[in-house]
Amino acid sequence: MAVKEPWVEYFFVGILQMRCSVVTDVATGDTVIIDGGAEPERIIDWVHSFSGQGPDWTNGPRSAEEMQKASIPNRTVVALLNTHAHFDHSGHIPDLKKAYDVDWYLHPDDTYLQTLAQSSALRYGFEVPEPAVADVSLQAGEKLTVGSLEFDVHHTPGHTLGGCCLRLMVEGGPDHLFVGDTLFAGSVGRTDLPDTGGDFTVLAHSIHTELWPLAPETIVYPGHGPLTTIGHEKETNPFVGDQAGSGVYTIGKYS
Ligand SMILES: [Zn+2]
Ligand SMILES: [Zn+2]
Repeated sequence: MAVKEPWVEYFFVGILQMRCSVVTDVATGDTVIIDGGAEPERIIDWVHSFSGQGPDWTNGPRSAEEMQKASIPNRTVVALLNTHAHFDHSGHIPDLKKAYDVDWYLHPDDTYLQTLAQSSALRYGFEVPEPAVADVSLQAGEKLTVGSLEFDVHHTPGHTLGGCCLRLMVEGGPDHLFVGDTLFAGSVGRTDLPDTGGDFTVLAHSIHTELWPLAPETIVYPGHGPLTTIGHEKETNPFVGDQAGSGVYTIGKYS
């Protein structure tokens, strides 16, 4: 069932300032963490007790008192979801799995990439734990129900083989679409990263077939940088939008 009142928070975490999103159903308190790649303590402290630095953006309460006033049940983390397996998005999943005894969801085509998290992180000069193994496979086209939250899973390879966009179904809309590094405001994900299966033609095809048909007002949460909407990107994105030229821009940005 579509959620009536979604409470969305995001945190720019880690050296690559990756967007980790926390989504709560205000009616039930059921919560998922999308792309828990870094700064696990910061996320856990906030979700659990509103302590610490908190999110960079929220449309929900900013304290336990506000939560009580709004009669929101205590939050329960019901799942960890990932858009793809690059280490900035998944490196600290093992720490979140320790804190929350819940399943971690990833598309199976990113399983190999996930095994490289430690070596990829080392290239940027820091360490992440022994990589987690996904508990549940995301399936292309499935309706994924986790607690009281429902997502449509769009498999969108091109940045990585197993890249997925997760669309939170919202009653009366607009839906919230968590795209990882598939699409950015004014750009797309890099397709030149090693061991990843990046391919610009595949990426453009994924966006054209899976994302452009969505409602234009759908709110897009990219893995890096500002929010945007499907309609705005379809109209203006120089890589994949309606006005995109003959492949001048094909490198993309962010990893
Ligand atoms: Zn990224
Ligand atoms: Zn990436």
